Amino acid sequence: MPKTIIVGAGINGLLLGALLAHEGDEVTVFEKSRIVGGRAFLLEKGGFVLDYGIHLTRFGPKSAVAAIMKRIGHEVGFRKLGASFVHDGGRMKLFPTSPGGIFKSDLFSLGEKLRILGLLIAIKRGRFDDCLDLSLEEWMREHGVGGGIRAYFELVSASVMVCPFVEKTSAGEMFRNLRKVLVTGHSAEYPVGGWKPIHRALVDTIQKRGALHTGTRVESVVFSGGRAVGVKAGGKIHRADRVVVNAPVQQAVSLIPAKLLPPGYAARCRKLVPTSGVFVDAALDSVVSPIDGLIYTTKPAAYGCITSNLSPGLAPEGRQLFTMFYPTSLEDMRDRAIVAKRKKELWAAVRRALPGVEKHLLWKRECALAMIDGVQVNVDQTEDKRPGVRVPGLDGVYLVGDSVAAPGAGGDVGNESVLLAFREITGKGL
Ligand SMILES: Cc1cc2nc3c(=O)[nH]c(=O)nc-3n(C[C@H](O)[C@H](O)[C@H](O)COP(=O)(O)OP(=O)(O)OC[C@H]3O[C@@H](n4cnc5c(N)ncnc54)[C@H](O)[C@@H]3O)c2cc1C
Repeated sequence: MPKTIIVGAGINGLLLGALLAHEGDEVTVFEKSRIVGGRAFLLEKGGFVLDYGIHLTRFGPKSAVAAIMKRIGHEVGFRKLGASFVHDGGRMKLFPTSPGGIFKSDLFSLGEKLRILGLLIAIKRGRFDDCLDLSLEEWMREHGVGGGIRAYFELVSASVMVCPFVEKTSAGEMFRNLRKVLVTGHSAEYPVGGWKPIHRALVDTIQKRGALHTGTRVESVVFSGGRAVGVKAGGKIHRADRVVVNAPVQQAVSLIPAKLLPPGYAARCRKLVPTSGVFVDAALDSVVSPIDGLIYTTKPAAYGCITSNLSPGLAPEGRQLFTMFYPTSLEDMRDRAIVAKRKKELWAAVRRALPGVEKHLLWKRECALAMIDGVQVNVDQTEDKRPGVRVPGLDGVYLVGDSVAAPGAGGDVGNESVLLAFREITGKGL
């Protein structure tokens, strides 16, 4: 039975660990924190089950998460979101999440409705997929895009790409994501029953044949003749046939002896820029809104949802769980005064999204994070420019997570990286 060590019990370490355990590997996971889940960890408090901020899965049943859960025998259903809205210019407008919604939305003038439909058809045909090195700003300028269509693409950039900076977002990567939405008919969706059953199934699958050690930091990956043979943790060497590092590559690279890496590789990994932002999770004492789609604001471009409307078990009867996220920059998150300002702006957005919500607040969790997703999919960090799941020149060591070269944007990059690593390790696809 092959032995695999996984460094990190983030969602992607767990997904790959469960897949390999299901294939028959003896999987040992070392997690430095006391809890599993990494940036997708769950918090249970007062009958509420909280994701760490908003946690939707792009493409729902067509996502990597869906494929993996099916493969390990724990098929997951996904709930499509209901109508989404944007608070813009002092009022709520329908935010289209499908071509059909465009005609109903007053985000666009009649002329813009016809224009954007034409653009969406071109996007669906893959006409702009090659614009990887073109920023969304440049692309919009080249195509004379302004008004409501520009406002719409700005929000798509902020939410789908987790990057509100249109001068940075890769137009080609964004259109590839939109294309997948248009082709599959599935946008961001939420797992039926929330993330808790998924975490439980992954941990159970791993533990059936292996072990999961929390509170155990891996100090380094151990190599012999260019091949990973184990890890050093707790002052001991733990041997394995292969090692998968699930820490974001910016940190993962420090676990591999620098002398084994190609020149410039470590520096390239360390300087990858993540997405960043502030978010708030709020437990509400009553049912304040029936909205079961996304609620966006402009200025700032923020978005959120009432998670308990997507999965009622996440809040006690008669109460609601709300989350709102404001993507911003890494530079912002490094400056305390700016963080305080961004939190105020987030609250202004929350008040516009759900007027009067503060009267219903039981408690809230507010966070400012330098890393939301491992990489911002900007023109300098498109899939082809990021490190792959294999480390050049080394055998038996793999990288999984949301900063490696895998398709998508935001969290689905990490989930897709699991499929790529699984194929590299086993030669099998899902
Ligand atoms: C607020 C917020 C909202 C988000 N919203 C969404 C969303 O709506 N949709 C979406 O798809 N994604 C979303 N994401 C992104 C998603 O959460 C991440 O892509 C995903 O959790 C990354 O998982 P990972 O396993 O790749 O990495 P991580 O979660 O970073 O896991 C890495 C793990 O490795 C452990 N580790 C690191 N170093 C060591 C070591 N030396 N030894 C042992 N253990 C180690 C860490 O403790 C951690 O548990 C969001 C993230 C945040 C923070």
